[in-house]
Amino acid sequence: MTSVAVVVSERLARYGFGEGHPFGPDRLAAFLREFSARGLPQRVRLLEPRTASDEELRSFHTPEYLEFVRERSASGSGLLDAGDTPAFKGVYEAAAGVVGATLSAQEAIMSGECRRAFVPIAGLHHAARDRAAGFCVFNDCGVAIEQLKRAGLKSIAYVDIDAHHGDGVFYAFEEDAAVVFADLHEDGRYLYPGTGASAETGRGAARGMKLNVPLPPGSDEQVFAAVWPTVLAHLKRFSPEFIILQCGADSLEGDPITHLRFSPAVHGRAARDLAALAEELGHGRVLALGGGGYNRSNLAHAWTSVVENLL
Ligand SMILES: [Zn+2]
Repeated sequence: MTSVAVVVSERLARYGFGEGHPFGPDRLAAFLREFSARGLPQRVRLLEPRTASDEELRSFHTPEYLEFVRERSASGSGLLDAGDTPAFKGVYEAAAGVVGATLSAQEAIMSGECRRAFVPIAGLHHAARDRAAGFCVFNDCGVAIEQLKRAGLKSIAYVDIDAHHGDGVFYAFEEDAAVVFADLHEDGRYLYPGTGASAETGRGAARGMKLNVPLPPGSDEQVFAAVWPTVLAHLKRFSPEFIILQCGADSLEGDPITHLRFSPAVHGRAARDLAALAEELGHGRVLALGGGGYNRSNLAHAWTSVVENLL
């Protein structure tokens, strides 16, 4: 039996902001073409996702914000944030579908149906508890963490190699000692959302549990290789019971909206090392979420590299 599940569903393609938008609905097809070309569908368990319930969404988001998205979703007009994230008809259901995909993958891991999983159109790390941001309507990472806590887990690791800082996850759990956080991203002085300075290490009970590593524009895989061991050492200190990897492909060279210069091998190595760490910790649980990535060829190569290295 294969130990890796991948969520493959046309439902995920409904989450996109129109042709021509960096986060367009064609991102899923770009991934699936490469995924098939490498023979991966035969080597993994294909998972059909469910949608997320309102109660699950409420475990992370405020009721007022959910109502706001529901209204904009019905009218199909206006913006969901200050300008990056337009509403479209059915955006509520599409975004709940992304959260459902992440929860389906997480449940498959927790039930032992698989050991590791990947969800391509997920990892929407900018959404806050009470607002949309940066193409992210509902924060599937945040809902997943809340659900794992409800399931009784005491320590959950969130690792983020997307070019943008995972601010929606970071600030929601900044004081939460159940969340071990590590985020490599382009320095906020040069890229949205501007946060994630190295001095941001967590507050209160979680002081010292959050690792933010801002990288200068142009950082390549040598820079990654120099800082990655620090991430692994940070995670090991807390022996997390579940590892989430947000593997945004916008940190690759040639992305149209960022300035890092990683190669797909970086994403593969991150997946491989975290899978090895999870095995070392005795549970094997790794959930990889696609994240950003606006150069279609880049996201196809980075994400298939992640799947190959989870196998
Ligand atoms: Zn990003």
